[in-house]
Amino acid sequence: MTLHLYNTASRQKEKFVPRDPKNVGMYVCGPTVYDFAHIGNARPVIIFDILARLLRIEYGDANVNYVRNITDVEDKIIDAAQKNGESIEALTTRTADAFHTDMAALGALPPNREPRATEHIEGMVEMIGILIDKDHAYEAEGHVLFDVQSMPNYGKLSGRNRDDMIAGARVEIAPYKKDPADFVLWKPSTPDIVGWDSPWGRGRPGWHIECSVMSKAELGDTFDIHGGGRDLIFPHHENEVAQSCCAHGEGTFAQYWVHNGFLTVEGDKMSKSLGNFRTVRELLAEAPGEALRLNMLSAHYRQPLDWTSDGVKQAKTNLDRLYTALQHLSDVEADESTVATSVLAALEDDINTPQALTEIYAIASAANKATDADERARLKGELLSGGAMMGILLQEPADWFQSGSDGDISEEDINMLIAERIQAKAEKNYARSDEIRDSLKEQGIVLEDAAGGTTWKRV
Ligand SMILES: [Zn+2]
Repeated sequence: MTLHLYNTASRQKEKFVPRDPKNVGMYVCGPTVYDFAHIGNARPVIIFDILARLLRIEYGDANVNYVRNITDVEDKIIDAAQKNGESIEALTTRTADAFHTDMAALGALPPNREPRATEHIEGMVEMIGILIDKDHAYEAEGHVLFDVQSMPNYGKLSGRNRDDMIAGARVEIAPYKKDPADFVLWKPSTPDIVGWDSPWGRGRPGWHIECSVMSKAELGDTFDIHGGGRDLIFPHHENEVAQSCCAHGEGTFAQYWVHNGFLTVEGDKMSKSLGNFRTVRELLAEAPGEALRLNMLSAHYRQPLDWTSDGVKQAKTNLDRLYTALQHLSDVEADESTVATSVLAALEDDINTPQALTEIYAIASAANKATDADERARLKGELLSGGAMMGILLQEPADWFQSGSDGDISEEDINMLIAERIQAKAEKNYARSDEIRDSLKEQGIVLEDAAGGTTWKRV
């Protein structure tokens, strides 16, 4: 396998060479847990799930360590807990549980390790102490700030110069900063706000130091891949690089930086003012998780993705096609042990999921035409293993065609009506029998009468 990844640090596609093939490490910034995940939050989860699967195929399950943190202390969490009138712990536990449920429904496997920021406060205090000792950080009015002028390479990852950074609205101007671009490592907490004792008084960490410390604790000073959405390149990842490289030495920290593109909804940026935030929870009530996942993978991860209801419908139709092909292959046994070379080659080329899906559709078309039993068995194996690699085609075709969404007529009601129709036919009451068939059709249920009885599917 020759995995190639676009490295944001070098701005080119590079051959991926792990530092140690027996210990491949990947760190991805995880959620700040204060509300339900929206569909934009799900994009990195699904993309890096594919990359983790790919690394596991190449290097072996036991040799890949995929770490995705949970940020459970941050000002947004403090604000939301106060607003809801609940404790921070209750809010973060509830939200993290919902996140796990939603991501599992999207077919994302759990990471190997999931550190929480509040479990690593000691490490944060220690790293901030090192940065102060090395003259890369200073204390001012209960805050500890990173001194960006102390690092000549600051801005290299994002390609921003100092003026761009200050012009960016994200830089907070404060009187105690030596330079407006300096960023917070530690900030004071008032008695009513969560805090920990430190050499600089009771306070709490800044967001950036959390990831520098959790990645070090799980993967060491230097590791292979760091991932996240491209909106995190500046300031979050730039600041992680600054902290970690100034604490541990130039050239340490992540060797490959992988960033996914932006996501818009029906052509618009998601924002509170537009009221177009789509939570994963809402979308799962409207469409199966596999359809949402397929829609997410239909664009290359570095490209912007416009999330539309038409796109989800198209994804559902494409899955119907693939499941129909599988249904027609139900008479042959498949060997699913190896992923089709064409699918793997597409993914190895900088995670080209649209190309991988094209290959999977081609396998389905070939299977639809094949007549030889061995050939059909081979294609079924390729379809299932390629699907599993992408995290789709994980259901029995009959279950897929019968699964509905909230608000759809239930399986129980359908079966009752089918029983009633059989009874009506036996009594030669064809008017009632036709009426049942038509009413089910209106609700998207198609009945198929065969010698063995009546089957049904949702269309
Ligand atoms: Zn992070």
